[in-house]
Amino acid sequence: MPDFQAILETIYQDALKAHDKGVVASYIPELAKIDKSNFGICLITSEGKEYGIGDYKKPFSIQSISKVLALSKAMSLIGEAIWERIDVEPSGNPFNFLSLLEIENGIPRNPLINSGAIVIADILVSNLNNPKADFLKYVRDLTGDDTINYNKEVAKSEKNTGFKNYASANLLKSFKNLNNSIDDVLDFYFHQCSLEMNCNQLSKAFYLFANNGKCLQNKLHITDRQVKRINALMLTCGFYDEAGEFAFEVGLPGKSGVGGGIVALLPDEFVISTWSPGLNKKGNSKLGMLALAEFTTMTKQSIF
Ligand code: GLU
Repeated sequence: MPDFQAILETIYQDALKAHDKGVVASYIPELAKIDKSNFGICLITSEGKEYGIGDYKKPFSIQSISKVLALSKAMSLIGEAIWERIDVEPSGNPFNFLSLLEIENGIPRNPLINSGAIVIADILVSNLNNPKADFLKYVRDLTGDDTINYNKEVAKSEKNTGFKNYASANLLKSFKNLNNSIDDVLDFYFHQCSLEMNCNQLSKAFYLFANNGKCLQNKLHITDRQVKRINALMLTCGFYDEAGEFAFEVGLPGKSGVGGGIVALLPDEFVISTWSPGLNKKGNSKLGMLALAEFTTMTKQSIF
């Protein structure tokens, strides 16, 4: 077994030396306040052993990473019916790109771009009794940690400036692919994206995707088949229009968010989360991607 702590130490030292740390997202004003010198990594192996370095216990806005958790909850609730409303193809376009949605008659390309995640939010609003509270409980149960919460300031900040998400929800509604009111669905979606977690909690939350659907608490949440589908979607659609680059450089299914977090995993082996708030031009954490590429190179562990 590789010496994971020594490998994380090397990656951390390399990240500290990096001159170009990328650019912090500013289109959600609250996110622009984050210091880009933050850097953390947390690895959890399939046996539950934890390794961490840097700011891996400092919470940040998980943003689009939440889309995978929302998708898994929706799959556990309504199963295959999801695919009548959302496709499973990479978009090759930015996360908030609207034109394809109109050309493709209101069927989002996949559940990890914004329009697809908004349809998933609609499904959760329809199928959960208290959508925001129930979804939060799900994430807390996966992680075994009741301190996890929404950041109301971030949710409000996005509500005030999320014009493209409103446009997307309106388009979906015009194609009859939203059953609830636009305000209810987006209120849920903005809260879901505002979840604050640290790298340690993220690795725990994603453990079920590396462990056949069972979380660290040994509870089965989704089936093997659903895990396979979610991991396939992360690999092909998890990094905006840079999913090919991530597969090429890192070789793991994963998901990034504009808060600078990335979670990636090797089924039956480990989950690894990184946080570095500066983004590259495609909206993925610049140093996070480099760190994960270095990790799979040094450990020789990837799905390929
Ligand atoms: N809440 C953000 C949005 O909808 C998520 C973006 C992201 O992390 O990709 O724009």
